[in-house]
Order: sequence, then structure tokens, then C-alpha cells
Amino acid sequence: MRDLVTPTIASLRPYESGKPVEELARELGISDAIKLASNENPLGPSPKAAAAARSALGELHRYPDAAAYRLREALAARHGTSMAEVILGNGSNELLDLIVRTFATPEDHIVFADPAFVVYRMAALAHGVPFTAVPLSNQTHDLEAMARAVKPNTRVMFVGNPNNPTGTYVGRAAVEELFRKVPPEVIVVIDEAYFEYADAPDYPDSLKLRDLRERLIVLRTFSKIHALAALRVGYGIGPAILVDYMNRVRAPFNVSTVGQAAALAALDDQEHVEESRKMNREQRSRLSSELERLGVRVTPSQANFVLVDVGRPAQPVYDALLRRGVIVRPLPNLPTSLRVTVGKPGENDRFLTALAEVLA
Ligand SMILES: *Cc1c(COP(=O)(O)O)cnc(C)c1O
Repeated sequence: MRDLVTPTIASLRPYESGKPVEELARELGISDAIKLASNENPLGPSPKAAAAARSALGELHRYPDAAAYRLREALAARHGTSMAEVILGNGSNELLDLIVRTFATPEDHIVFADPAFVVYRMAALAHGVPFTAVPLSNQTHDLEAMARAVKPNTRVMFVGNPNNPTGTYVGRAAVEELFRKVPPEVIVVIDEAYFEYADAPDYPDSLKLRDLRERLIVLRTFSKIHALAALRVGYGIGPAILVDYMNRVRAPFNVSTVGQAAALAALDDQEHVEESRKMNREQRSRLSSELERLGVRVTPSQANFVLVDVGRPAQPVYDALLRRGVIVRPLPNLPTSLRVTVGKPGENDRFLTALAEVLA
């Protein structure tokens, strides 16, 4: 009898998300846990987005607008593109998967970095597409090595900028060089989930580089700085011809009515975005310096999290932090490191105190 699934599907493990606060409460009876594990915005969404979500509740019996007209219109206006160049996803996660499904087959090949966002690998494995995972160099995407990893059958390259889980970024000159080196038929996907948090002077806004490359898709999300992770709204901007093919493959009602309404309102509240960015900038810097004072290594971050190398097996440190009600993220492929989301000042205090105790 034929195997139930292919060997690659059998090799997949379910995505391990950050532990929910409720689960810790159930397991350890800790009622005041804090979660610094999933790079969520600790300030929560704009009150305008929450209000828009609530007013959408009257229409729950109707299917969503499958074309997400108003949200795509607003995104197109915001980014100076046409609506035909904007596609929405059930989180940008769905778009990563959709790109693989639409443009690659098991005869093709994909390039991404390692360690990088695990969804790139999951999508390739799920669809049986061979891939090359190019090691980071100095914790950063090695774009030269990634360009060299391109083969005649490479269809897609994923670049997370800033990268998750390291928080590092690649600068404009390196991205431009990548665009020159990679053959024009390859679709380069720049995953900018943390775009709004990056403030390095040479951090590139890839939407401004679209003239340099036809086959470029830029992904952004409402899950991170816009703080709407629960509603699952991400978007991609790319050439209309690519968006058109992706639209033929995607499920028709992939973004909910509530998600569309909240995202539209969130886009309008740039003050909330600015406030979130400011708090993150201050706290990221403070967290990094206090961690260094504790004697652990912190990778300079352009995102809303920091990668912390505790210099010993990280799993026991993770477990001990859990018992103190602090949820961070262990990383199976980086056994001495933890990824810690930048929280509100009090949350960061609590994490720093707990970590100091655990390391002592
Ligand atoms: C969080 C994240 C995403 C976005 O996920 P959503 O599906 O939009 O919630 C995409 N890429 C990276 C690298 C991320 O860390």
C-alpha cells in the first residue's frame, strides 16, 4: 500500500509557537505570567482598530469581501502602487506558503537562510520543493552566498529583513547587489514583518527598490507593530502578473471581515505606530545593555526582539524562567540561545530580574 504521506511531509513537525500565558497557568498554576515569546506588540492594537473590529461583528453572517477592496485600496494608496499589485494573506505566513505553491514544483528549487523564519522551510517541505538553506554569516544573511546558491531551476528566494530569530538586517547596498546577481527569472521575496521597527540608516525600504527588479515581492504584516496578530492579516506587494497568479491559487475568503476592518483602521493610526516604535527603540536598547551587564551575548537587533546567547544550554534556562512566570522562546537550532521579545518596561524588568536569578 502507498504510504499515507510523502517522506517530506512525514518529516515535518508542527510549528512550535510561543507558549500561551493560559497554558502556563494551566500547567504550573502561575496566574501572572508574561509572554515575551512571539514578538507581539505589548501595547496592544490601536483603540481605533479594536473599535473597527467590534463594529464589524454585526456582519458575521456574511462572507468577507473576497477581494478585500477597501483594505487593498488603502494599502495601494499608502504605498503608491496599484491595487492589482497588492495581495492579502491570512497573515503573511499564508503568503509565504502561497508563493511556494504558486510558483514552485518538486522539480524546482528555493533558497533561504538558516537560521531564518522556519515557515520558509516548512513551506518548501510541505510542497516537496528542494531547497538550499544558506548559513548566516556573522548572524546575518550572507546575500553573496545566497546568490551563489541559485541554480538554473531556482524559482524563489526568501530574505527576512530584519531576520527572525537574529534581529539582524541587510543594508541597501547588499540588497541592490543581490538584485543584480540573481537571475531575473528568480522571484526574490523580502519578508519585512519587522519593517517598522528597523531604524538603521542603511536599512532599505524594499518597496523603494522595485524599479531595480521586476520579480520582487515585499511582504508586510499587521501582526507585529500593528498588534493584530490574532486577526491574521498580512500583505504582499509585487508585480501584477505575480499577484494575479497567486490570487488564482489562494482560498477565496482568506482574510476575515473583522481582520479587514481592523487592519484598515490600524493603517490610519500612525500615531500608535510611532508610539510603539518609540517604546521599542528605548526598551530594546535598555534590554540589550542590561543583558550585557549580566554577561550574556546579545545580537544587535533591528526588530522588536533580541537574540540572547546565555552561553550554556538554553532549555534549562527557559524552563527556570517559565517557573518564574516569564515566557521566552527557545530555539531548537540555536541550543544556547533564547529569543526574547521587547516588552513594556515592567515586563522587561521582570525578565531581567528572573534571568539574573536563573543565571546566578
Ligand atoms: C511574525 C513573522 C511573520 C508574520 O507572520 P503573520 O503570519 O503575518 O502573523 C512573517 N515573517 C517573519 C520573519 C515573522 O517573524
